[in-house]
Amino acid sequence: MTATMRVAELPAVGSALRLTNRPVPMPGPGEVRVRVQACGVCGSDLFLQKGGFGAGVVLPVIPGHEAAGIVDALGDGVDDVTVGDQVALYYITTPPYDPWAARGRPNISPNVRRMGVDVDGAFAEYVIRPPAALIRPRAPVPPAVLAVLTDAVATPLHGLKRVAHLQPGETLVVLGVGGLGSSAVQLGKAMGARVIAVTRSEAKLRLARELGADETVPANEGDTVATVRALAGGYGADIVIQCVGSAAVDEQAIAMGGPGGRVVLIGSSLDQFRARAVDIFWRELSVLGSRGFVPDDIRDAIELYLVGKLKVDHLVETVRPLEQANEALEDLKLGRVFRSVLVPS
Ligand SMILES: [Zn+2]
Repeated sequence: MTATMRVAELPAVGSALRLTNRPVPMPGPGEVRVRVQACGVCGSDLFLQKGGFGAGVVLPVIPGHEAAGIVDALGDGVDDVTVGDQVALYYITTPPYDPWAARGRPNISPNVRRMGVDVDGAFAEYVIRPPAALIRPRAPVPPAVLAVLTDAVATPLHGLKRVAHLQPGETLVVLGVGGLGSSAVQLGKAMGARVIAVTRSEAKLRLARELGADETVPANEGDTVATVRALAGGYGADIVIQCVGSAAVDEQAIAMGGPGGRVVLIGSSLDQFRARAVDIFWRELSVLGSRGFVPDDIRDAIELYLVGKLKVDHLVETVRPLEQANEALEDLKLGRVFRSVLVPS
């Protein structure tokens, strides 16, 4: 008799997730089976459900790319992890000799294979990964926390550290205080920046202050750009991280950048924004894209958590059993949560 596991799979674009059983996967040579302890539910899962990743995605697929678990079984030739190890999962793999991965940038490789998009993900009791995609924390981390560190925290960390090269003493503007922006506020403080957070709701403005923002600005009152530029010394900010999926906010982000400023776009709007070359070169402004993260971003996020510089309570307050995957997606769609975390029961 083949053992089976519970999964939540996406059967078709636009459809609800289907709860079903599948055979427990066997790790092939050079692979590891991980027993999933927790998996975050993120905007990318909604994007997948809408068909946003395009026709190349073969359905049904099991979503889930923000996960933590325990090493459960080893395929032949694996000796870098041990059964029983707690691991965070990196969601990307690349083919051997991939030139982007060789330069430490697997996240931008055109050849990425993404867990939860191109291969089955962690909305399941078990998932198969290669050892290179497993990151062992140096001390135990609560599973839901470890899961959200791999994406909700690692994504803005990548943007601030590896793309924008944030330096202590710089002024950072965070546009949008959701799952990514709330982490960006704390990361900015942890990296020594002065942080100005801009968001709509009073509750999120309050959260930004609790997480350490030096200044908060309501996004829907008066001239937000003028207010932020004034708070940033009159000339604009050193770094602006744009976490809102909106072309209008993309334009605001560019207008808020000061001389030598770096504007990092991580909010995924499909709409066009307008910019003038003179506004960019006059200030030597850099408009930068930041896509996902690399394994070292996860390692950095784990370290910041373990040394107490990162609070993630607001990201892990909604934990649901795997069976409620659709409810978790609905919560996210309606903006009722920053994140939900699914736990196989
Ligand atoms: Zn995600």
